[in-house]
Amino acid sequence: MREDRETSGRTWVPMGRALAASTRLPWPVAGALTAAWIAGAWLATLAAGGSRTVLPHLFYVPVILAASRFGWRGATLTAVAAGLVAGPLTPVDVASWTPQPVLNWMGRLVAFLVVGNLVAWLTAESHWSVVQRVHDVRVSASIQRALARGELWVAYQPVVELDSGRVRSFEALCRWTHPQRGPVPPAEFIPAAERTPVIHRVGAFVLRTALARLAEMLRDDDRLVMSVNVSAAQLTDPGFVATVRRALWEADVPAPRLCLELTETAILADVPAAVRQLKALRALGVLIALDDFGAGESSLAYLHQFDVDIVKVDRSFVAAAPGNPKSTRMVNGIVKLATSLGAVALAEGIETDAERDVLRAAGCHLGQGYLLGRPEDGAAAAQRVTAQRSAGGEGRLTRAARPSGPVDPPRGSRR
Ligand code: C2E
Ligand code: MG
Ligand code: MG
Repeated sequence: MREDRETSGRTWVPMGRALAASTRLPWPVAGALTAAWIAGAWLATLAAGGSRTVLPHLFYVPVILAASRFGWRGATLTAVAAGLVAGPLTPVDVASWTPQPVLNWMGRLVAFLVVGNLVAWLTAESHWSVVQRVHDVRVSASIQRALARGELWVAYQPVVELDSGRVRSFEALCRWTHPQRGPVPPAEFIPAAERTPVIHRVGAFVLRTALARLAEMLRDDDRLVMSVNVSAAQLTDPGFVATVRRALWEADVPAPRLCLELTETAILADVPAAVRQLKALRALGVLIALDDFGAGESSLAYLHQFDVDIVKVDRSFVAAAPGNPKSTRMVNGIVKLATSLGAVALAEGIETDAERDVLRAAGCHLGQGYLLGRPEDGAAAAQRVTAQRSAGGEGRLTRAARPSGPVDPPRGSRR
């Protein structure tokens, strides 16, 4: 069984950000540090016997520091100062005070200028969008390749009834096992994919794969529901409803067995378009869940604009609730709000018995989290459903009044 491991994958974008952040020193401190470093490097070179003995790379440090702290003007000034100090002011050989060849130190000065100004450009806030764009395009190309090579797969995390422990549904979570890097965390590649059109391909892949797996599971439990996460770009895509309809029809899965999870960010990207799409999706019969509820700033601002079936209580409330009366009251409030809107509350990220008990006491009957089941591969998830059937359990996560028949075929389709 594949494990849901996480790696600390890094890219040069966060590193660049860290550099920019680390150099938000007060200007007198940054200026003094730059000057002290140049002087220190010069003295170290002299003490060691000349510029042949100490790497001129020492002089790049103040250039980079000044570039990220003071921008291109500071970078140019420091590069010239470092170039002169590492050049005409430092003999090749201290014993004979032999001057450095002009071409050597001029070449180095030019390199300092180029590096300094490049760093200044890259760390300028106004250029982050360009840097991020380049990064996103690279990640997007890698995801396209990963899709073609079958490196993407879908993990399924069970959602269980807190009282009985029965599995009611699964959340499909995209996974990427890179041949060299190993598992790439979704928190790293999904946001980059969301900023490029590749998210449509990833979304369609997860939807198709999850529905195919669900079709198989429904043989053991015909009330099971599969939840799939939807990004802002997918939701506002005019063809999204048709894509969902086609996927349901191809997998031969009734619409109410599919739940689409949306975050506040996905809805806020274009509220009127999101509301229109959500109404069309509900008319199709699929369930709608509000993911990470309470984590954003304006969850309540739009909740009255459309109907939702499931409200997923954000992990931050779940984790804070045990032993904290205020957080417990918050959880109680969210569960009551969900219920009064005719939705079902579902607690995310339950990791301990204490969290589960607080949620149960608050009237929340559904939960998801490492305590109840980690994301697992499709075969393991299907096995879980078969075992549940053998043990005599059955699931139900649907509202009685929703349509439950098969989906109409998309126009011009043949099965
Ligand atoms: P999410 O939809 O809120 O998914 C729940 C996340 O919480 C998952 O992380 C899951 O592994 C993690 N989780 C579950 N139980 C626990 C727990 O007890 N403790 C802790 N600490 N974490 C728990 P994951 O799989 O890394 O996904 C992160 C986010 O990436 C998801 O958050 C979702 O927003 C996004 N994502 C994942 N797959 C897809 C996808 O196919 N499409 C889209 N659009 N987004 C996806
Ligand atoms: Mg989700
Ligand atoms: Mg969530």
